[in-house]
Amino acid sequence: MKVLVCGGAGYIGSHVVRVLLDKGYEVVVLDNLSTGHRQSVPEEAALEVGDIRDAACLERLFLRHEVDCVMHFCANSLVGESMEKPIEYYDNNVYGTLCLLRSMVNNDIKHFIFSSTAATYGEPERLPIDEDTPKHPTNTYGETKLAVEKMLHWMEGAYGLHYKVFRYFNASGAHPSGEIGEDHAPETHLIPLILKTAQGIRDKIYVFGDDYDTPDGSCIRDYIHVMDIAEAHILGMEDLVKSETSDVYNLGNGNGFSVLEVIEKVKAVTGKDFTVEIADRRAGDPGVLIASSEKAQKALGWSPVNSSLEYIIETAWKWHQGHPEGYGLV
Ligand code: UDP
Repeated sequence: MKVLVCGGAGYIGSHVVRVLLDKGYEVVVLDNLSTGHRQSVPEEAALEVGDIRDAACLERLFLRHEVDCVMHFCANSLVGESMEKPIEYYDNNVYGTLCLLRSMVNNDIKHFIFSSTAATYGEPERLPIDEDTPKHPTNTYGETKLAVEKMLHWMEGAYGLHYKVFRYFNASGAHPSGEIGEDHAPETHLIPLILKTAQGIRDKIYVFGDDYDTPDGSCIRDYIHVMDIAEAHILGMEDLVKSETSDVYNLGNGNGFSVLEVIEKVKAVTGKDFTVEIADRRAGDPGVLIASSEKAQKALGWSPVNSSLEYIIETAWKWHQGHPEGYGLV
């Protein structure tokens, strides 16, 4: 079975590619390398450099490769940036996905796995967040992902295109080999920023707000290991191909950790001490986001086995130590 992984050179996509190959699937990666890294794509995967908004490129790709399932990770995904550049976010995340779906329909490809986000929920009305929690995105990024989720519903009715949507909470950690990991420019995510501080690449870590309604005042998030996310995608795809049933699942581990707790854990795992400074809240940050992933666990037999905070930090630390400059310049 051949799987097209759009965005397979990015952080989450590259981990999914490794797990697909390990399980014996044939993999084609489509990536425009705007934020992805050529070096993260192993030789066993065919890399096509191109953009999902380029209809001719998609048609050529589907002519060359008989694809059974498309996994879609291409997106702009920075909350702050999405508020400043909504046109770019709608263009890549919504219009880009529309182009991809159009080409899939033209080529009679009926299985689609979509990468969505906890940002679709906004400030949640209840905790833990299950899939039926009302969705009121507080930023353009979450809104564009929700727009695609809605689009998929109508596509299924009209074209029989079946899908699984995964809403990730805080993706983190790295492949246990230390060969691939998180490399964003600019980096805005908490765990890589703390690790860069532990390495001495940054001089301090800022805690964005210590006056939230949480035990220590800092924000609480649900960190989920990227290998658990990858495993869920394969289970979701296998279920989709067998059952032809579309569904939406949260992916989190159900445990929340505060920013200060994550910092303490990094100090313990790395044995490094560094400066921590309390700063203002970051605009748009909800105080607490914790997932219920019971649905994925029950329906797909998935379990977040790699998602202890310690293992997340250990694997990310291994990646950062081996790649202090990430993948380096292409
Ligand atoms: N955060 C922080 N300092 C940083 C980066 C992030 O205190 O330098 C906080 C941020 O406010 C949030 C949590 O860490 O509460 C996780 O942020 P991240 O950007 O990693 O993921 P998000 O939850 O925004 O998807």
